[in-house]
Amino acid sequence: MRKRNALILLAGGRGKRMGSDIPKQFLDLGGEPLIRHSLNTIQKSDLIDEVILVSGAEDIQTIRDIVDRGGFDKVSHIVTGGEERYLSVVNGVLAICEKGGCEAFDGKPEVILIHDGARPFVDDEIIKRCLDNVSTDQGCVAAVPSKDTVKIADENGIVTDEPPRRNVWLMQTPQCFTTDVIYKACLAAKKAYEDAKQNNEIKLPEITDDAQMVNMYLGTKIKLVMGSYDNIKITTPEDITVAEKILEAKIGHIS
Ligand code: C5P
Repeated sequence: MRKRNALILLAGGRGKRMGSDIPKQFLDLGGEPLIRHSLNTIQKSDLIDEVILVSGAEDIQTIRDIVDRGGFDKVSHIVTGGEERYLSVVNGVLAICEKGGCEAFDGKPEVILIHDGARPFVDDEIIKRCLDNVSTDQGCVAAVPSKDTVKIADENGIVTDEPPRRNVWLMQTPQCFTTDVIYKACLAAKKAYEDAKQNNEIKLPEITDDAQMVNMYLGTKIKLVMGSYDNIKITTPEDITVAEKILEAKIGHIS
């Protein structure tokens, strides 16, 4: 019997870099709100049993309407996001581990995948590669080799490091962990954040993906598996134009 898998779908960001009044997860892509594209894929997937949607507090009703209208019955919880992406992940993971998972399971899922709602082109092959490589000592994350040379620079734009291109990968989602691993990492991240706030520390932990959080707090090894160059994240307005082209290539037309 295969493991029971839950997916946390993140839609709790405001998308400031998009420069739009509408949060990017609700922008139109091919006649549907962006978030519906990944929801459609996940709802149809035989690999995912339960979905936890994380939404901005002001968008909960919009998300609920999308879920109800689309008949997305794998969605077991809709929870409010946090100030940063990783705090939204913490809220999603705590909803599974502390409020109880999908009733149909009679317990918690064994594996949790985390996916950006702003990545509309996730597919079953990517999800499967993540699931095939996850274990208690190894998180598994979709990524693609960088086609460009990458340089690290300081705040003045002066290059300080030049990693060999063959070793540079661009991180995507899903990011996949056993439930106990991501739960422990989330508890540690939550505590570090609350301590920093309480001590009025100006510099809060800067965590931009889940692999970083798990590695930082638990030292867990992270394995990269091939994502897809189509699995883009919508961040700035030109990404919508690229996404429309990808969608057109996938479905042959765009409404
Ligand atoms: O901001 P970024 O592009 O890294 O966002 C990636 C994903 O994380 C998006 O789907 C966004 O909605 C989500 N997010 C979130 N809570 C935040 C910030 C981002 O759920 N506080």
